[in-house]
Amino acid sequence: MSTENIVAQSRQDDVLILTIQNPPVNAFSPGVPEGLKAGLDAAAADDSVKAVVIIGGGRTFVAGADIKTFNMPREQAPDLRGTIEKLDAFPKPTVAAIHGTALGGGLELAMGCTYRVATPDAQLGLPEVKLGVLPGAGGTQRLPRVVGAQKALDMMLSGNPIKATEGQEVGLIDRLIDGDLLSGAVAFAREVADTRPLPRISDRGVDGAAPEVFAAARQGIKKSHRGQLSPELIIDLAEMAASVPFQEGWTAEATKFMQAKDSPQSRALRHVFFAEREAAKIPGLGKDTPTLDIRRAGIIGAGTMGGGIAMNFLNAGIPVTIVETTQEALDRGLGVIRRNYENTAKKGRMSQGDVETRMGLLTPSLDMGSLADADIIIEAVFENMDVKKDIFTRLDAIAKPGAILATNTSTLDVNEIAAVTSRPESVIGLHFFSPANVMKLLEIVRADKTSDTVLATSMALARKIRKVGVVVGVCDGFVGNRMVHRYGEEARQLVEEGARPEDVDAAMNALGLPMGPFQMSDMAGLDIGHAIRVHRAKVSGEPEPDGWLDRIVKTGRKGQKTGGGIYDYDETRKPRPNADVQALIDTYRAEKGVTPRDISTEELTKRLAYTLVNEGAQILDEGIAARAGDIDVIYLYGYGFPAYRGGPMQYADEMGLKNVVADLERYGQTPAPLLKRLADEGGSFAGLDAGRGR
Ligand code: NAD
Repeated sequence: MSTENIVAQSRQDDVLILTIQNPPVNAFSPGVPEGLKAGLDAAAADDSVKAVVIIGGGRTFVAGADIKTFNMPREQAPDLRGTIEKLDAFPKPTVAAIHGTALGGGLELAMGCTYRVATPDAQLGLPEVKLGVLPGAGGTQRLPRVVGAQKALDMMLSGNPIKATEGQEVGLIDRLIDGDLLSGAVAFAREVADTRPLPRISDRGVDGAAPEVFAAARQGIKKSHRGQLSPELIIDLAEMAASVPFQEGWTAEATKFMQAKDSPQSRALRHVFFAEREAAKIPGLGKDTPTLDIRRAGIIGAGTMGGGIAMNFLNAGIPVTIVETTQEALDRGLGVIRRNYENTAKKGRMSQGDVETRMGLLTPSLDMGSLADADIIIEAVFENMDVKKDIFTRLDAIAKPGAILATNTSTLDVNEIAAVTSRPESVIGLHFFSPANVMKLLEIVRADKTSDTVLATSMALARKIRKVGVVVGVCDGFVGNRMVHRYGEEARQLVEEGARPEDVDAAMNALGLPMGPFQMSDMAGLDIGHAIRVHRAKVSGEPEPDGWLDRIVKTGRKGQKTGGGIYDYDETRKPRPNADVQALIDTYRAEKGVTPRDISTEELTKRLAYTLVNEGAQILDEGIAARAGDIDVIYLYGYGFPAYRGGPMQYADEMGLKNVVADLERYGQTPAPLLKRLADEGGSFAGLDAGRGR
């Protein structure tokens, strides 16, 4: 497309209109700056042009920079800064006419104009912090000059947009246009055409720039953005906006932008941005795969998971029938759901009316026959194959043809469950995470015979109930729990060798995980892991497990639910080491003849993180996950891996796969064949994903 087409020039008498036409969201990609500059040159050269209006064609103004251009050499990257410099120096009034979104570079472009008008529902924001960067085309210098220090910090540090109506209140929008945006903008441009001097943002000062404002912001990010670079740089730059001439802040911003962009954190956050979008695409399935309408849902089991799963559907306005075996269990389940909603209402995040609307969509039942008209039925009963097989056999006779039959099993073989039905193509695993109404992750387990339609419908459903769906294959623990299982083993092994549980957790906290492996086990309940180990030993004919953690469970300490497990807990739920537990570990080591050794934080971190990576590589090799990026998305949304590390696989890429392999070998672990091969070839997981076209 020629520059002229990307930015169209048209005239309404004395106003030149520049329309950016770069669908779908008018991102600031190559061609846009050239087109805008050409338009400004034309306007400057023509005395009959009194003012310029810049507007977006299609559904939005400029929704942001094109993230794909972040990796381009500077000379080839679109020149947003140059375009805005030209706008700032332009001798005639320029008016940005905003609809849809003006985000990131889009808002910076708008702030480079002399004036801004917008439709009331337009969204304005600087979301760069979410990608580990900062507004790099004047945003950090102009926004504080328009909306004051505090509001600018709020917007830039949260990355969240505001509506144009609020934009008008804070001075970012000069006029809201209710009717046709272009006519309103042209009329506005005529009104201001002769205003001189031009009220440029770069000539203004910053309101409310007291030192305490910046000090409080620095304090705040310690909690909200622990360990992250770009929020710090944003505060530094906002402070500069208030204390040095515009030109100096503008130059500093360019340097700090590059510093943030080239950081591992920003690479990780950009990886997450793309990985999430990729995860929604199911390999081998076309975009036009038909999906089923989900109008009614059925859930079997109103326990911990069933209740939470039901809430997701109720929140999305989908009626749910929930089935239990006894009235008592049903009442208990419904009571928990209602209490959850009432608590949300108490916090002011929902009205009492909303609570009743949701509860009104829920039908309790003791009869599986009442699920006959459900479009999807999700089983969430005890984790026992015989019980599940019995339920699926009965469901096969009850459910209407075409209904999706899903199991929430965490470990059992979905193929085996599907095989008891006459319609294995309708059977799928939908693995929610606890608490199911809160956790964003949904592992969508594709069994051997699951149909494409059932798979595509499940992915669409995930979006509808506001989950991040990731397709995985059948194996024990699927992706997330299989990896976390190996990680737990390594954590226990580290303690056996001499580490204290609190040091193991601290190493993971330092990596940015809110909970280390032992804090996590205490929360989930130590008896659950113990029961799994007992079961596995029984199945494989091994003696009953008797590790140090099994012994803790046998003392009755089962975790937070019994007031203590590996740690003690006070009312703030802060873990404190327990002397008896430490003594039990000492005795255990002595019995095993282990002389405890000091283990460095580096070894703790690497052994734990690389255990995840190694198992992840094996999972990838087996095709249980389609992309390394999918594994990362699972770890971010299911296990609290920090987004600024990008997930375990991206973390390994950043550390260098050769180094990861060398460390694993140094610590006596066998690198997975795929990991070894990639390391030998000088490859990366990202490269592998890209090479597979995924
Ligand atoms: P739970 O014990 O809290 O609830 C199970 C419920 O199922 C009970 O209320 C029970 O009365 C009911 N039930 C049993 N048989 C039934 C039947 N025939 N018909 C109707 N209801 C019946 O268990 P949970 O923690 O909610 O786990 C349920 C499933 O979800 C298991 O497969 C588990 O592996 C899986 N899961 C659990 C978690 C978790 O963290 N708890 C996370 C992911 C998946």
